[in-house]
Amino acid sequence: MAGGVNSNFRLNISPTPLVIERGDGAYLYDADGNRLTDYYLGMGPMILGHKPQVIVEAVTSQIEKGILLAGQTAIEAEAARLVCEMVPCAERMRFGSSGSEVIQAALRLARAATGREKIVKFEGHYHGWFDNVLWSVAPPLDAAGPREAPVPFAGSKGQLSTTAEALAILPWNDLAALEKRLAVGDIAAVLMEAAMCNAGAIHPLPGYLEGVRDICTRTGTILIFDEVITGFRIAPGGAQEYFGVTPDLATFGKAIANGFPVAAIAGRADLMELCATGGVLHGGTYNAQPIAMAATVATLKSLTPALYDAIAGNGTRLMDGLRTIFASAGIPASVTGFPQVFHVAFGLDTPALDYRDLARMNRPAYVAFATALLERGVRVLERGAWFMSSEHDQGIVDETLAAAADAVGALRR
Ligand code: PLP
Repeated sequence: MAGGVNSNFRLNISPTPLVIERGDGAYLYDADGNRLTDYYLGMGPMILGHKPQVIVEAVTSQIEKGILLAGQTAIEAEAARLVCEMVPCAERMRFGSSGSEVIQAALRLARAATGREKIVKFEGHYHGWFDNVLWSVAPPLDAAGPREAPVPFAGSKGQLSTTAEALAILPWNDLAALEKRLAVGDIAAVLMEAAMCNAGAIHPLPGYLEGVRDICTRTGTILIFDEVITGFRIAPGGAQEYFGVTPDLATFGKAIANGFPVAAIAGRADLMELCATGGVLHGGTYNAQPIAMAATVATLKSLTPALYDAIAGNGTRLMDGLRTIFASAGIPASVTGFPQVFHVAFGLDTPALDYRDLARMNRPAYVAFATALLERGVRVLERGAWFMSSEHDQGIVDETLAAAADAVGALRR
């Protein structure tokens, strides 16, 4: 395996990429026999924790009926019905296999619907690893250009440079910048994480999403929420339910199937139907794979109000506890986001409002903290994100806080 891993996001993890043998509940067990409390949660999907019995039973019984059938199945219809019931914008939907690919489908639909080509993308937002969206995801500030008009910054070598011409990169949480750019009239879609959760956890400013919705409606621009992280995680209907603003299209992944490779695109019927009768191609050999659909149904049915309440309570306890630990150690740090997914940024006295604020955080200090936590049996992402599951109960949260206090103490010694 190139670099010993199968995704670049598993590379360069301190002190070394781990070999994991199994997961159970809130815990991972590595090949050296260590038990780790897991806040990676598969990079976000495992909202029910590792190996939930309800999923194990659903997929085990489905596999007896066959593996890939290339026809419609009752289980995918049930999964689709649940998505349409839970997600406000979902008049129609389609399944895919990864967040990256359903975002491509959304962009294609928006271009077909508007006859325009350009997409607004915001600095610091991540929408998958494909050439046309991997721009200005984490640009160094000295190469990012002026804040109001960021210079597209490639996220990878080998990326087709001309794809940047089809993007307008803007600062997020800035309505005036969006209003000005959309007035030109050449934008097919505005693509955004409705709450920034990949690079850091930043809420939209009050009125921002409503303002974006209004400008998009006035200019005939398709509004796409990338809910690959927020979907089914911060609320049953994702960020659009949480903030009460309905996009034209939305993309989902991660928590939709608790670790099975499932993604979805959902939205307005007239837009989605372009796939069926409007000449827009959307395909995928593994779309709606029955075993993954069984996992989807089992996951979505498990997402009860009581489950969200429990995660919210324990997540809030963890966020508050971390704030207290950092404050009493004199470490400037912001702990922001949602109890189901939050972000810790060292070196920030006030919470970031956009990528440029966030980029000022002290990454090396946080990596040292994450490494010290790992030595104490707690696994957190080095980029600062913490994912919570229903399995992270009060006792586990309190153990984590004790480990965090000890890790902070060790760093200061
Ligand atoms: N969009 C967001 C907000 C994400 O966080 C991710 C992945 O982390 C993606 C899209 C891409 O999804 P996938 O990795 O399933 O292709």
